[in-house]
Amino acid sequence: LGKKCFALRIASTIGREEGWLAEHMLILGVENPEGKKSYVSAAFPSACGKTNFAMLIPPQAYAGWKITTVGDDIAWIKPDEKGVLHAINPEAGFFGVAPGTSMKTNPNAMLSISKNTLFTNVALTDDGDIWWEGMTETAPEHLIDWQGQSWTPGCGRKAAHPNARFTVSTTQCPCLDENWENPAGVPISAFIFGGRRADTVPLVTMAESWQQGIYLASSIGSETTAAATGAVGVVRRDPMAMLPFTGYNMGDYFQHWLNMESNVSKLPKIFLVNWFRKDSDGKYMWPGYGENMRVLEWITQCVAGTAQGENTAIGLSPRFEDLNWQGLEMTAQSFSKLMSFNTDQWHQELKTQNEFYTQFADRTPKAFHNILENL
Ligand code: GDP
Ligand code: MN
Repeated sequence: LGKKCFALRIASTIGREEGWLAEHMLILGVENPEGKKSYVSAAFPSACGKTNFAMLIPPQAYAGWKITTVGDDIAWIKPDEKGVLHAINPEAGFFGVAPGTSMKTNPNAMLSISKNTLFTNVALTDDGDIWWEGMTETAPEHLIDWQGQSWTPGCGRKAAHPNARFTVSTTQCPCLDENWENPAGVPISAFIFGGRRADTVPLVTMAESWQQGIYLASSIGSETTAAATGAVGVVRRDPMAMLPFTGYNMGDYFQHWLNMESNVSKLPKIFLVNWFRKDSDGKYMWPGYGENMRVLEWITQCVAGTAQGENTAIGLSPRFEDLNWQGLEMTAQSFSKLMSFNTDQWHQELKTQNEFYTQFADRTPKAFHNILENL
């Protein structure tokens, strides 16, 4: 209740009245080898990679770069007296989904939960330790499952509940940012929004304006399971990852975001990302996890005004030569698939976006209709 109901539902309503934002966002610091540091905030719907991105470990080619965690789930964001947006993490801990968390996928999360941690609905090993699906490649030979029953591999049941969780103090995070408890917050230079889309949405684009960025942020979503087969699935839209958490009318929430444009002196750039695009065999086209650093570097270049790219209907996108490929095998051809802007898919996309906004009736901001029309 303290987490989602206060920090998002109630806080979003207070934020609307007072001119700030309570968001379902991670906050991270990114420092380059020259010591130049900036902060970004990112909203991905549940199970779309917030905790992983917040604790990203850069690949070897990024020696000298540092990623630090301010928060992995919730951000309160407010203009300071100069009109610069600053974010705090209102939480004191991490409450993360256990299944899928491993030393391979998220080492910093695993290190955070190596002691002083509460686990709920995980499996118990015979020597009193914990286990869940995805923690290790091979399961232990025997477990007590989350329901207290004896469990062996191949018994047909999951050992841990899919929503089994760890609860741990933020202070145990090995990559915690030095400003994580700074009451003034950290200055935000970019907002990143991303869903889980097997097709249609390119790896990364920078919106051409605040308004277009807010529109695109409100259209993010995840595919339902048809996506697993590589077929076009049904998209469950989750604007700004806030559909379950906004404490007032969603149309008014979109307008509140649009209004920030005139309350802020230096607007963060807005980015749309998709780590989950799949090829015709249903395989992820992007390695994700630490390799997302390559996208994050381009984002910091956009913020600094040094990025190169080409224009698309939904903003600037990097060309193959604009990203750093050191230490990662990627061909220009695969990259162009990952970035492709398919007109047929976008016709369908805009049709379903239009249907989605129709449900908010006259509370959908006028600006959204214009942007949709332009697209
Ligand atoms: P959260 O609920 O938004 O905090 O998401 P998590 O960070 O817990 O990740 C949810 C699931 O997505 C986990 O199974 C992760 O292993 C997976 N995941 C996270 N980041 C990536 C990525 O960049 N690529 C892929 N393919 N999977 C990811
Ligand atoms: Mn999380």
